[in-house]
Amino acid sequence: MCSDNLDRLLALVGCQNEGSGALDDIEVISQARRSLEAVHLIRLGARATLVCQLTGLGRKTVSDLYSRLTGSPPPRGQLPFTDSWYLCSNLRMLHANVVWQLYQHFEALGHSEAGLVIHVYQTYLQITEVPLLTLTRAYFVPRLISINAWFKHACTHCGLQYIGPLGNYPSMCPACVEYFRHRCRSCGAEIESRRLGRRKTHCQQCHEERYRTRKKVRQASHVNP
Ligand SMILES: [Zn+2]
Ligand SMILES: [Zn+2]
Repeated sequence: MCSDNLDRLLALVGCQNEGSGALDDIEVISQARRSLEAVHLIRLGARATLVCQLTGLGRKTVSDLYSRLTGSPPPRGQLPFTDSWYLCSNLRMLHANVVWQLYQHFEALGHSEAGLVIHVYQTYLQITEVPLLTLTRAYFVPRLISINAWFKHACTHCGLQYIGPLGNYPSMCPACVEYFRHRCRSCGAEIESRRLGRRKTHCQQCHEERYRTRKKVRQASHVNP
């Protein structure tokens, strides 16, 4: 497909999609829609294997599209499906949670599987100044929930839902973890960062207050065992 034909195809499909959704039943339009989705996915950085999987197009069709759009043959294979990359930093987890929220939002709008990934990832790129997740990593986020590697949790501080694995994972959402990195967990006051030693979780005032409270509780339990 030469680039002129591709542009005409994109224009045609873009135009048809504004009309009746019933046109999707026509095989030609369906094929055109899937080709359009493949173009979007490749431009957003998807690997050929994932494009085939999401659009249902054949490997050869996708490889041809990939080569024409990027000027090089598609790399082989797929990234390993593991959550260890996300867990390396709280900021990555925060981005994964943003992507998950976007999935929640766009799922309700009834896109095709490929369309959903495209809408989520385009929006993610729009709202993040420095995106950390590639399209493939963004695609993996809801998969981690569906295979029970990650679960929904309620943040112990803000109460909002977030996703992450079970176990030693912090009980706060990544946004609160980021917020409290240099702030007191009780009053929110800024805490001076220390180069060495354990990071403080409370300011001096709250730390003393907590100490006094604990002491009172201990004394009371000695009086009334
Ligand atoms: Zn929170
Ligand atoms: Zn404090």
